[in-house]
Amino acid sequence: MSNEFLKVEGLSKTFAAARGGAALTVFENVNFTINKGEFVCIIGHSGCGKSTILNVLAGLDDASGGVVIMDEREVAGPSLDRGVVFQGHALMPWLTAKKNVAFAVKSRWPHADRAKVDEICQRYIDLVGLTGSENRRPAELSGGMKQRVGIARAFAIEPKMLLLDEPFGALDALTRGVIQDELLKICAATHQTVFMITHDVDEAILLADKIMLMSNGPGAHIAEIVVNTLPRNRSRHTIHKDPQYYPIRNHLVDFLVSRSKNFTEQPPADYDPKHPPLVTPGLADAGLAIPESLLNSQTPPLARVINH
Ligand code: ADP
Ligand code: MG
Repeated sequence: MSNEFLKVEGLSKTFAAARGGAALTVFENVNFTINKGEFVCIIGHSGCGKSTILNVLAGLDDASGGVVIMDEREVAGPSLDRGVVFQGHALMPWLTAKKNVAFAVKSRWPHADRAKVDEICQRYIDLVGLTGSENRRPAELSGGMKQRVGIARAFAIEPKMLLLDEPFGALDALTRGVIQDELLKICAATHQTVFMITHDVDEAILLADKIMLMSNGPGAHIAEIVVNTLPRNRSRHTIHKDPQYYPIRNHLVDFLVSRSKNFTEQPPADYDPKHPPLVTPGLADAGLAIPESLLNSQTPPLARVINH
């Protein structure tokens, strides 16, 4: 039995021509799957279409072509099954931090009594370190604090899938570390399925099971999918000591620095967007064998393994 939770097939997005300009095909023929409980990050240069993909997954934007199936149903609009954290915080400015969270919680559980709603909101407000600021409105909060309200709101509805658009970019390093750790804990405890955009390769290696590399736009593709072969109980304090860490990190940085552009100009002759290659730089460079489970991957778009 397949445990594919999200399936993206042949996704493309073209923005209509602005007056006097040409239409823009941001990405095309994007194919990937995410298994239940899997944490997948996507990295790629600014403007390649990551946020647009996330908005389509969230049901907030329509694709120009292709289909998104989540939990066996086609995504056709927004749903409380998906918790979204936007790049900008997208809070309701007239509501306090806690009421912004409560609004989502009440929508999710319309029959919950006030005490229950309050308890859920407070738990997530505390989790993101906003205890004491719950009654402030967005205008009275710093950028990082507003972002934390957005994170609390997405986590609090306990969605089937979390969609995170560079959620920690505006946070100071200390807070970012604390919330990354909490996210790892929540994911371990609830087997949360996550799609996350980040530009931080270290964050991707800490959090993700798979890291999708997107080539530069226009006409961007998923160039390859890097398997994070580091064991899942990763810790920011020790991760860099694992012999697999730097091979993976170097591979990601190398993609961002040069291969993302070259790929757009001239994709490899055997590249098939329906089956982006699955690569395991950590294993290859550390001299380890590819496990059978990867070679016999059940997920069709990830069938071809390249031991880079
Ligand atoms: P990323 O998140 O990877 O930085 P985006 O998905 O935000 O990229 O944007 C991809 C491209 O699509 C950019 O070139 C951006 O200018 C363009 N774009 C995004 N939204 C719109 C829109 N509503 N109308 C026209 N172009 C857009
Ligand atoms: Mg973006």
